[in-house]
Amino acid sequence: MTFTVALAGNPNCGKTTLFNKLTGSSQRVGNWPGVTIDKKVGKIKETNYDLVDIPGIYSLSPYSPEEVISRDFIVEERPDALINIVDATNLERNLFLTLQLLDCNIPTVIALNMMDEVKKKGDSIDIEELTKLLNCPVVPISALRGEGMTELIRALTHTMSSKKTPEPIYMDYEVEKTVSRVEKSIKGKVPDESIRWHAIKLLEKDHIVEKDHLDAKDVVQKEIADFEKSFDDESDSIIANARYEKIEEIVEKAVKRAHTDLDSLSDRIDNIVTHKYYSLPIFLAIIALVYFISVSTVGAWGTEWLGGLFSEIASNVSSWCIEHNVSPILSGLLVDGIIGGVGAVLVFVPQMFVLFLLMCILEDVGYMSRIAFVLDRVFRYFGLSGKSFIPILVGTGCGVPGIMSSRTIESERDRKITAMTVTFMPCGAKLPVIALIASALFGGNWLIGLFCYFLGIVCVLMSGIILKKWRSLAGDPAPFIMELPPYHRPAWDNIFKTTFDRTWSFIKRAGTIILLACVLVWFLSSFNTSLVFIGSGSQEGSILQYIGQSVCILFAPIGWGSWELTVATITGLITKENIIGSIEIMAPSGIESIVGPAAGLSFLVFNLICAPCFAAIGSMRMELGNWRITALAVAYQCLLAYAVSSIAFTVCSIITGGAMSTLTMATCAISVFALLYLIIAKDPFLQKRRPEE
Ligand code: GDP
Ligand code: MG
Repeated sequence: MTFTVALAGNPNCGKTTLFNKLTGSSQRVGNWPGVTIDKKVGKIKETNYDLVDIPGIYSLSPYSPEEVISRDFIVEERPDALINIVDATNLERNLFLTLQLLDCNIPTVIALNMMDEVKKKGDSIDIEELTKLLNCPVVPISALRGEGMTELIRALTHTMSSKKTPEPIYMDYEVEKTVSRVEKSIKGKVPDESIRWHAIKLLEKDHIVEKDHLDAKDVVQKEIADFEKSFDDESDSIIANARYEKIEEIVEKAVKRAHTDLDSLSDRIDNIVTHKYYSLPIFLAIIALVYFISVSTVGAWGTEWLGGLFSEIASNVSSWCIEHNVSPILSGLLVDGIIGGVGAVLVFVPQMFVLFLLMCILEDVGYMSRIAFVLDRVFRYFGLSGKSFIPILVGTGCGVPGIMSSRTIESERDRKITAMTVTFMPCGAKLPVIALIASALFGGNWLIGLFCYFLGIVCVLMSGIILKKWRSLAGDPAPFIMELPPYHRPAWDNIFKTTFDRTWSFIKRAGTIILLACVLVWFLSSFNTSLVFIGSGSQEGSILQYIGQSVCILFAPIGWGSWELTVATITGLITKENIIGSIEIMAPSGIESIVGPAAGLSFLVFNLICAPCFAAIGSMRMELGNWRITALAVAYQCLLAYAVSSIAFTVCSIITGGAMSTLTMATCAISVFALLYLIIAKDPFLQKRRPEE
């Protein structure tokens, strides 16, 4: 017989770290809320307990979809036991959830995490006192260092075998009087074991619980009215206040704080990096440095070396084939199709590895959560909240988890807009395209990478304004609450693990889906429409040319009506790395033989912003709810991509003195007007949203 144990706690309190330690698996660990999205299950080592890692939550009120998942799991499915993980460096906030969990009447053990930090600060927590005050076993641990694991499992086993449910923590006497009256009025209508939880939720005007108890509502309504009158406040805030009062009392009794200024280092750093004026330039400089190191220097050296290696392999295989009289079709497939195509993608592994590594370090030390905080000011101006930055950040690794992490956003509108726009960010797969264009057409300029990163952000913000004018997406951003975890030294094993995972999934794709796509592109480019082999590399009359030429007219107005790039864009829908492989096969002498800088930039910009790969479109469908709105979102992405690349082409042509045609100039003019119109046009829903203004 196996038992289910749920692991519940605030975001970022170390749940996933503890989960990995207890189960021996390695889930992704991050230093911001929203990394754990769905429930994950693993067996606690050497026991028959299934541990379920549920999304981090601040309370059991259903504000965000994650809170709903977690709450449903705890309240409806009722696990056999709970491990409530609590960040000991931030007891006040964490206990807010704890008190609600203790009301649920499920055997509970409290794991007091981050004890290493507490000790480092010189604070001390009286565990015995805390156990007494919370009426529930409390085990000090450090998930990061694996300390206290045996004790935790022992306490859990003990609690489960005795089936001891926690005593509720009673709040203010007057409040409790009302609670017990409500309990009486709903008695028999809810399971006895969760009656207190239901009663308090009704007082908190929890709309989900209210919906289930419409018949009790009349009685409760009167209670609430009396309650609000005697406290002269909204009933949900009376409950919240009573809880916080209780928490203050508990913390006061159990915690002794050392008055040192050790943690003021974090504050001092924060004063600079979240400064009103310096924060954005600092952010810009850091991201520039990241792209400089990964795309232009360290990463590029690795790529250059690998490139040499692959062309050596290709020429060796090629001469071997000639020596051994291998048929030209087979040697073409091997050398041009497989080694050329897949190799063209794989050479970017070093650049990608360095980029992922640097981003992981920034995440792990805690800098990225500061940026979410700083950007909240900027994003709010554009109708989004800083929370949207987290998916955007995850999206620089891969759009799929980026889209999924938009689930942490409470406001449904912000969530949808974010899910629709995350893929504007240059994900790992787009990095090779950026690197290729930068090195082939712009002399390896690192500004191209930086440009793409900020173009992504600008497109997200611009879409914030534009999409809010769409009826189903209108609305103000929800308030942004996010605590800033103290900076800490990078946890290298985590960082390397994540970096390797991300890089490996890229390499794996190169060996599977990209390989297939390369073989297909090679085949289509080496045979003509009557299926006669025309030799790889020649292209004239190939099936691919035929296909590309019939569509490429579409892209002439934005500067690159070349059939090769058209085909590359189409193969990019499978995965974006294909773009590189396809170009390599179709234009062995390089993209610079097909287009100039302005057209290349326009091509790059289009591929950054247009419809993402199929996997990402699938995730968008999941977050947006149906195919209709997903299709609309993809159409929006493509149109925006078209307009922005048209502008990029014209601006770059003017700067570099490149040729423009009447067609491209007209398209640019229309694009500018269309975008300006969409941005400036009056927001039809503004009135309804802000009646007081
Ligand atoms: P979750 O959001 O609750 O799943 O939290 P994570 O497991 O992703 O951890 C958040 C951050 O806290 C990570 O950077 C961890 O390395 C760090 N962390 C987790 N447990 C401890 C601990 O016991 N001590 C310290 N110092 N850091 C920890
Ligand atoms: Mg987690």
